[in-house]
Amino acid sequence: MEDEYQIPRERMVARLRDHYKIQDERVLDIMLQVPRHLFVPEAIKFQAYKDNALPIASKQTISQPFIVAKMTELLELTPNKKVLEIGAGSGYQTVILSQLAGYIYSIERVEKLAKITQKKLDLFEIKNVTLKCDDGTNGWEAYAPFDGILVAAGSPDFPQPLLEQLAVGGKLVIPIGDEAKSQKLFKVTRTKHSFQTEDFGSCSFVPLIGEHGFHN
Ligand code: SAH
Repeated sequence: MEDEYQIPRERMVARLRDHYKIQDERVLDIMLQVPRHLFVPEAIKFQAYKDNALPIASKQTISQPFIVAKMTELLELTPNKKVLEIGAGSGYQTVILSQLAGYIYSIERVEKLAKITQKKLDLFEIKNVTLKCDDGTNGWEAYAPFDGILVAAGSPDFPQPLLEQLAVGGKLVIPIGDEAKSQKLFKVTRTKHSFQTEDFGSCSFVPLIGEHGFHN
């Protein structure tokens, strides 16, 4: 898929590999293919491949490329995995996930953004994603358990329903922090009898707002 942003996209991926040490070649390869500039507002299209988050509609953000790559890598996806995504936002992460896992269930709280994401899924003719507009902190019981759960907004704590909806061996990747804008990225792996938690350092996300998140 050659386009006018091919070179900035190649530079972005080189930075992910060389500076940020993203190692999963499948993640790097798909980020080289997905046209990130189509997921940001037209007026800031030229900034799409920069090393930072950018504003999208409804006061939300499209995550920094490194964060998208890191969270995706931590899920250790293969084509047979079933993933729950909370916070579809622009739909960029959703599309990346759809190319690496078997099936994606995605929840976005803001209706306008859910519509934007659905349009992108239609545009790219992506058939392995089901999206709904709802509070994702309750998970999606009907399709549980999930092999991976990715939360793209900062939560005050690990939402209990998401832990419960994780398959044994499944991974929850989530930013946690008391403050609305500063968190630590965690990966929780469900084992047969407990949960194993790893800390992947500081990050900054918009707040996760809902029953098991921040209360608006
Ligand atoms: N991965 C997205 C990130 C979007 S920002 C991207 O790169 O574009 C985080 C998103 O989480 C916002 O769109 C926000 O509306 C959404 N969000 C916040 N709380 C939520 C909740 N409880 N359930 C579902 N989505 C939520």
